[in-house]
Amino acid sequence: MNTDRFRDLLLDERQRVASAIEHLQTENAGSMDEEMPETGMADTATVTVDRELDYSLEESSAQVLAAIDAALSRIDAGSYGICGRCDNPIGEERLEAKPYAILCIDCQRLEERG
Ligand SMILES: [Zn+2]
Repeated sequence: MNTDRFRDLLLDERQRVASAIEHLQTENAGSMDEEMPETGMADTATVTVDRELDYSLEESSAQVLAAIDAALSRIDAGSYGICGRCDNPIGEERLEAKPYAILCIDCQRLEERG
């Protein structure tokens, strides 16, 4: 497998996710002053929902970032593209779609089912 190509993909993705996180953090910090809700309950609720959405976005972006870093160290360790659960190859097609995948599609489905 050509891991150099996937390393490039991962580094691109890392850049993208890192700047998305930065953007979200800047947005949250900048909006604190403006959003002091003094009007009715409806406005307050809207602000809360917006914030929660941002926070969960930020949280899942942070998870993606961690997964990307894990995948990059797997490239260095020579274990990239091998499922972390069943030791079978993850499959290049799946890695192209999601270069930071750590589980093969079968194991991923098992995990999601719980
Ligand atoms: Zn597996």
